[in-house]
Amino acid sequence: SFNLFLFFLRKKNTSMKYTNYAEREWTGPFYFIQAADPQLGLMKGDEWQEEVELTKLAVEAVNQLRPRPRFMVLCGDLVHAMPDTPFREGQERDLKAVLKGTDPSIPLVFVSGNHDLGNTPTPRTVEQYCSAWGDDFFSFWVGGVLCLVLNSQLFYDASGCPQLKEAQETWLEEQLSRASSSTHVLVFQHIPLYLKTPDEEDNYFNLQREVRQTLIERFKKAGVTAVFSGHCHRNAGGCHGGLDMVVSSAIGCQLGEDTHGVRVVVVTEDKVVHRYHRLQQLKERGMDHDLTELL
Ligand SMILES: [Zn+2]
Repeated sequence: SFNLFLFFLRKKNTSMKYTNYAEREWTGPFYFIQAADPQLGLMKGDEWQEEVELTKLAVEAVNQLRPRPRFMVLCGDLVHAMPDTPFREGQERDLKAVLKGTDPSIPLVFVSGNHDLGNTPTPRTVEQYCSAWGDDFFSFWVGGVLCLVLNSQLFYDASGCPQLKEAQETWLEEQLSRASSSTHVLVFQHIPLYLKTPDEEDNYFNLQREVRQTLIERFKKAGVTAVFSGHCHRNAGGCHGGLDMVVSSAIGCQLGEDTHGVRVVVVTEDKVVHRYHRLQQLKERGMDHDLTELL
């Protein structure tokens, strides 16, 4: 199987069976890699070799890191071709092929993006995603930290699948209500809550204000430390009222001034420290020393 370890963790209906209870205990600082938007096909449409090469570079850079990251999460828009469009199958196949190069000791965690599900997902497109990449929402524990992976398309436009939205809501409420025993709670979703400030205007790259405000309140109440996202193809975000909204640029196509990269996230008992690293820099020099020193 593609990644047996995560495959088990990601089956929400069976996750309790496979939960490693040892992971519920804090055992000291660790780090993980957060990446987003390899989005094979965005650059040229009918050809995606450059994105494949960039993803390969990310995999190689991450494989070289010591100590090893506890996991690598890909925050959505794995491929560019929307469901049921011509290049979809080839892009998914090529992405899986390159990700298979990831060291087996580094579990991969997949988050669904708007291109993976369609801007207005339907039960069918969600099912297609789940059979290709695993559940669209689920949780897992790592070293005393509760990680929640969400389907942000169900927040953005669930008009084509209201029941799936309800299912995620019910599940999320239950997860948040039991979150207090964890050292940190981290959220992973494709679309950011906001790019700069919680009260900014709606735009293509953030969640609608009303939805956003409700989520922010629920997350704060549950003690969520940080929300990690992609979707923007540039680095953004900001910490407001104790909640850190982290928007990471893309492995693939850039829409701002950043360079292809991934984010190194160090989790200590009292804080979550993160910094975007260019792929080339990460491969040549590893992660920044001041971050290593926190471990
Ligand atoms: Zn996106």
